[in-house]
Amino acid sequence: MNENKSILLHICCAPDGSVPVPDLQAEGWNVTGFFYGSNIHPHEEYSRRLEAVRTLAGHCGIECVIGHYDPEEWLAGIRGLESEPEGGLRCRECFRIQLEASAREGVRIGCEWLSTTLTISPHKNVTLINELGQEIAGSFGLKWENRVWRKNNGFLRSVRASRDLGLYRQNYCGCVFSREAGRAVTG
Ligand code: SF4
Repeated sequence: MNENKSILLHICCAPDGSVPVPDLQAEGWNVTGFFYGSNIHPHEEYSRRLEAVRTLAGHCGIECVIGHYDPEEWLAGIRGLESEPEGGLRCRECFRIQLEASAREGVRIGCEWLSTTLTISPHKNVTLINELGQEIAGSFGLKWENRVWRKNNGFLRSVRASRDLGLYRQNYCGCVFSREAGRAVTG
């Protein structure tokens, strides 16, 4: 039914992409990935996640476009929201930045549809993510593929799939603030 429909899939990290990519392919979609990454701190962490995304893309046989790494630009985008808790307004803006970058790329390479792997996380507000995605896709003239990847054991499947592929799995969301919050919790 989805044969040859082209979709730009925003891949937030390789483990989170390990179910959406093959599932969309199995449905017949023509999938291109997009890794944003400028929210990820520090650079060594970005490099590890990028390598994992490349491993996933190679395994699935998809092209994955890599956004330019510009943490200063991301920090400017969330300015004033630095002290927000995880799940708050900073994350909302971060989703927006990532999805707008993905939509821009989708238009550039001629995809018709847009979606994200972000909704596989048990910790993220999937309703907000899909609402933002719908709004952003529409504003770029794209169609939004509304998915909640964590449904039907999606997260558990991604843990298994990334373990099988040997993908690096991080222990904090990505930005400097989430890293510091994680350190404060673990001491
Ligand atoms: S915690 Fe995650 S979603 Fe929230 S701002 Fe940081 S990187 Fe973005």
